[in-house]
Amino acid sequence: MKIDIKKLDIAKAHEHLIKGDFTSVELTQTYIDEIKRVNGDINAYLEVFDDAIESAGSADKEIAEARSAGESTLLGLSQLIGIPCGIKDNILVKGHIASASSKMLEGYHATYDATVISKLKAAGAVILGRTNMDEFAMGGSTENSAYGVTKNPYDISRVAGGSSGGSAAAVAMDGALFTLGSDTGGSIRQPASFCGVVGLKPTYGAVSRYGVMAMGSSLDQIGPIGKTVTDCEIIFNVIHGKDRKDGTTIDEKTYENGDASAKPIIGVPRHFLNGDGIDPAVIENFNASLETFKKKGYEIRDIELPNVSYSLMVYYIVMPAEVSANMARFDGMRFGLHKDGKNGIEDYFLSRRAGLGREVIRRILLGTYVLSSGYYDAYYNRANAVRCMITEDFYKAFQTVDVIVTPTTPSPAFKIGEKTSDPMAMYLEDIFTVTANLTGMPAISVPCGFAPKDKSLGREVDLPLGLQITARHADEKTLFKVGKDLLGEL
Ligand code: GLN
Repeated sequence: MKIDIKKLDIAKAHEHLIKGDFTSVELTQTYIDEIKRVNGDINAYLEVFDDAIESAGSADKEIAEARSAGESTLLGLSQLIGIPCGIKDNILVKGHIASASSKMLEGYHATYDATVISKLKAAGAVILGRTNMDEFAMGGSTENSAYGVTKNPYDISRVAGGSSGGSAAAVAMDGALFTLGSDTGGSIRQPASFCGVVGLKPTYGAVSRYGVMAMGSSLDQIGPIGKTVTDCEIIFNVIHGKDRKDGTTIDEKTYENGDASAKPIIGVPRHFLNGDGIDPAVIENFNASLETFKKKGYEIRDIELPNVSYSLMVYYIVMPAEVSANMARFDGMRFGLHKDGKNGIEDYFLSRRAGLGREVIRRILLGTYVLSSGYYDAYYNRANAVRCMITEDFYKAFQTVDVIVTPTTPSPAFKIGEKTSDPMAMYLEDIFTVTANLTGMPAISVPCGFAPKDKSLGREVDLPLGLQITARHADEKTLFKVGKDLLGEL
C-alpha cells in the first residue's frame, strides 16, 4: 500500500500496521525521506538517528509475533507500536546527543533514558531523531537555538514558535506522527498554535520530569504535540503516571476533583482579553470559536480572574530564579564544554561564556538578582505569594465552570527577527500560557482556524491560530473531550 503521510494520524497508522497494510520500517523510511526532503528549509530536526530503522524492525517483529499468537494479542498491542516520533533535544535518549540546542552540550551523549523515553520505547514507538529548540528551552521562537532558527512550515519567513519549535514544526511538516516537547511557560502550546497542530501541557506532576533538563523545576512539564486531540490523548496515556524517580509526580489520589459536568461549562475571562497587544484577528477568531461552542450546546459564562494580569511578571521572576539555580550545574567540569583558564574559577567563566547564549545568560543574571540577599523578599517571595493568589483565582473560577478558554497566543506566528532585539516583546508572547504553569493546571492548544492573509499587514498566507483550554488539576479528560468536540473528533 502506498503510504500517504498527509492523511495519517496515530490511530489510522496503527490500524494499517496491525492489518499489515504497511510495516513500521516502510512507515519510518517514508518519514525519514520526507525529513530529508523538507528539513533543509524548516530546520525542525537537529539530527535523524541512525538506529530508527532498527527500532522499526523490532516493532515489526513484535507485530508479526502478535499476529501469529492470535487476534487478542494483536489487538492488545500498544497504539504506539511502530509509530515514528521526534523528541525535543532537552529530553535524554540513551546513547544519543542531547544538546538542548546549546553549544555547552554540543557533544554530550545521554547516559540514560528519560522516564518518558523508557515508556515510549516500552510501547514500541520509533524515535526518529531530536528536534530543535530555544537554548535550554528559554525563548518563544527557537531563535535562541545555537543551531539556527526553525522556520514555520506555513510561511518560512516566520518563526515556528518556541521553545519546542522543532517539535511543532516536525509534526506540521509531516516529519513525524507525534513529538514530545517541554513546557515551562507555554513552550508546547505556543509553537503548536503557530504551526496549526495540537499541544498539551499536562498537570504538573502528571508526567515524570526524570531525564528532561530542568529549566524551572516548579513549572516544567513534558507533553505531546500531535495532529489531533485523540493522538495527544493516546500519547498522554502512555507517558503519564507516578514515577519514583520524580518525587513531584502525582497519582489518582493527589487531586480529588468532582467530575466535570456532562456538558462542560466554559468560562471566559473577558477582562483579560482587552489588552493592547492582542491582534484583532485573534479576538475575531476567538469569538468565532465561542460561537461554535454555543452552536454545539455549550454554556458559556464570563469569569473573573482578578490577579491574572500579574501572571507574566510573576513568571518572569520565579522562572529565572529557578533557571539560575538549575543552570549552575553547567560549570564546564561536569557536562559538555570545557575551556582551560589559569585556575578553576577562570575555567568556569570561560566555559560558561563560550557555551551559553545571551538569553540564557540574561536569565541567570536576572534570577541571581531576584534571589540575592535584600531582594529575595521584595521579588522572589512576593512573586510566590502572588502565584498563590492567581491559583486561588482559578480555584474559585472552577467552582462555577469546568474549563477556561483563551487564545493561546496574542498574535499569529511573527516574522523571524521581528522580536529578537526586544526581549520584553518576546516575553509578552507568553501572556496567556504562563498561568497554567504557575497554577500547575493542565492546558491544551487546539487549532481553531486562521488569521487571514493580509498584504497590508505583511501576511502573505493564512496563519494558524490556537485556542487554549485549561482545566482543573488532573482533569486532562475534560480537555480532551472539549478539544475533540471542537475539532469534530468525537
Ligand atoms: N517562552 C517562554 C519563555 O521564554 C516559555 C519557555 C518554555 O516554556 N520553556 O520562558
